[in-house]
Formats: sequence, structure tokens, C-alpha cells
Amino acid sequence: MDTNILDGKKLSLELQEILQQEVKRLCGRGVAPALAVILVGADPASQVYVRNKVQACERTGIRSEMIHYPEDVAPARVLAKIAELNADPGIDGILVQLPLPPQFDEKAVLAAISAGKDVDGFHAENVGALSQGSPRFIPCTPYGVMKMLEKGKVELKGKEAVIIGRSNIVGKPMAALLLARGATVTICHSQTADLGFHTRRADVLVAAVGCAQMIRGDMIKPGAVVIDVGINRLGSGRLCGDVDFTSAQPVASLITPVPGGVGPMTITMLLTNTVEAAARRAA
Ligand code: NDP
Repeated sequence: MDTNILDGKKLSLELQEILQQEVKRLCGRGVAPALAVILVGADPASQVYVRNKVQACERTGIRSEMIHYPEDVAPARVLAKIAELNADPGIDGILVQLPLPPQFDEKAVLAAISAGKDVDGFHAENVGALSQGSPRFIPCTPYGVMKMLEKGKVELKGKEAVIIGRSNIVGKPMAALLLARGATVTICHSQTADLGFHTRRADVLVAAVGCAQMIRGDMIKPGAVVIDVGINRLGSGRLCGDVDFTSAQPVASLITPVPGGVGPMTITMLLTNTVEAAARRAA
């Protein structure tokens, strides 16, 4: 029984087809959407993420420029490159793959990206705009979750939304978006006293922890919508989420799988933000 699965892979492909058309339209007007991706070091997971992003750009017709530095690169060199890309009128989006090696001050690097090209939505100016309810770039993962909720026709007004995780890239922007849509939002974290108490009263539950299968079916309110952001690798090598899918699926009204749920949507929303930036350039 998989009728209650919110399929992020399928929705991603649908959205990427629409983006392809928009890219064609923009190119026809002389504005070719372009994304610059900066990768530092040889972290295998980061390399996979960057490769997936570059390939998704190619599929959609977005030009991508990949800049790869060795692990021991001086931060000044990367900052100089960011300044050059900020000034380049042919570049719409700049992304620095995190985490960065220890010699970097990540906050300073993110702050160096022009807010108008910050397609990850991590710049303080864009975080502020989101929290004030007038977002320019929405961080890709929570943006993707909102698109999935929209696709599932999930009513948010007056609903209890519980998010597990308070990171700047997932938990906090997720809360701002759900709040803006009229949900009553609770954010749980590692110091939350009774996690199950909160998860069991959630109409919409978003797990963004990084702890394999920690949310079991008995922690979920019957009929809840369950969004699993977590990506964890089991000892067997298999990928899994923060939610124990087997026990949670029969309890939930809708649930996202891992893999094939939020992950593909994150990449698609990066493309969306890049195309939106190019559309602003064309306007
Ligand atoms: P972080 O490590 O930055 O944040 C994890 C959050 O979980 C923290 O707020 C932490 O609390 C909280 N937490 C940790 N343990 C517990 C616990 N036992 N009970 C309740 N809360 C807990 O992670 P990210 O937000 O960056 O990512 C979360 C997960 O989502 C990871 O698995 C990551 O790989 C995945 N991810 C997936 C993406 C996708 O595209 N699908 C994109 C981004 C991330 P505290 O703040 O107190 O430490």
C-alpha cells in the first residue's frame, strides 16, 4: 500500500519540466540562467551533492559553473572568487557547498555572497526577509517541503505543526514558512523534555534531525502528515530517514519516503531559485 506516499522524485520531475520551459523562455530573451557552485576539499558526500546539483542544472538547461578548491585553500582566495562572481552580470546564483574546512568562518563566507544571488537563502538579509514574511530566496529544503504539502493539498491553517530540529538551513526557515501559512508551530530540539508529547499532537510533523528512524509509528498522531527530511546511512549502507517508515506509514495520512522524498525536491528548489533570480534580471 503506497497510496499515502508523497513522491518527491515524481514532483521534482514535474517541476523541472516547467523550469525547462522557463529557462528556454529566458534564453530567448537573452538571459541564460547561470549558477556558480563552489566546492572546497574532497568530502565524498559534498562531492556527490555538488555533482547532483550540476547534473540537475544541465537537465534543465541552466548553465552551471563549478569551482573546486583544494582542502587547504586560503579563505581569502575563495572570498575573492565570490566577489568576482557577485560582480559578474552573467551569474544569477552563487552556492558554497557546506561544510567548509576549519580554516573558514562559514558565516563570513555566506555573508560575502551578494544577497541577490544567494540562491540557498542563507544570507542574513534573506533570512530576515523570510522572517518578516516577504521572502526573496527561500532555503531550498523547506521550500521543497512546502511544495510537497501544496501538492498533497495539505491544509495548514489552524493545524498543529511540529518540527524536530532547529537548524538555520531546515528547522528555523521551515517554522517561518508554516507559521506564514497559518499553522501553530512548535520547534523541538535535543533539549526538548518529552519529544513524544509534542510529536503525538502534530497534524503535520517535520523531522529534520539526522538520527536514523528515531520517530516510530507510536509517536505519530493517527492521520498526521509526516515529512521526513533526515538522510542517514544504516550500517548496511542503505539510506533511511529520521522516521521509521515501516511503523509510521500505516499511521500517517501522507508520508514522504527516504530516498525519493524531500531530497530531490531540495535540488529542484535550488534550480527554481536560480531561475527566479534570472527572471528578476530579465525584468
Ligand atoms: P543539524 O545537525 O544542523 O540539526 C539537527 C537538529 O536536530 C538540531 O536542532 C538538534 O538539536 C536536533 N536534535 C538532535 N538530536 C535530537 C533528539 N534526540 N531529539 C530532538 N532533536 C534532536 O542538521 P540539519 O538541519 O542540517 O539536517 C537534519 C537532517 O536533515 C540530516 O539528516 C541531514 O542530512 C538532512 N538534510 C536533508 C536535506 C534534504 O535535502 N533532504 C537537506 C538538509 C539536511 P540542537 O539544536 O539542540 O542540537
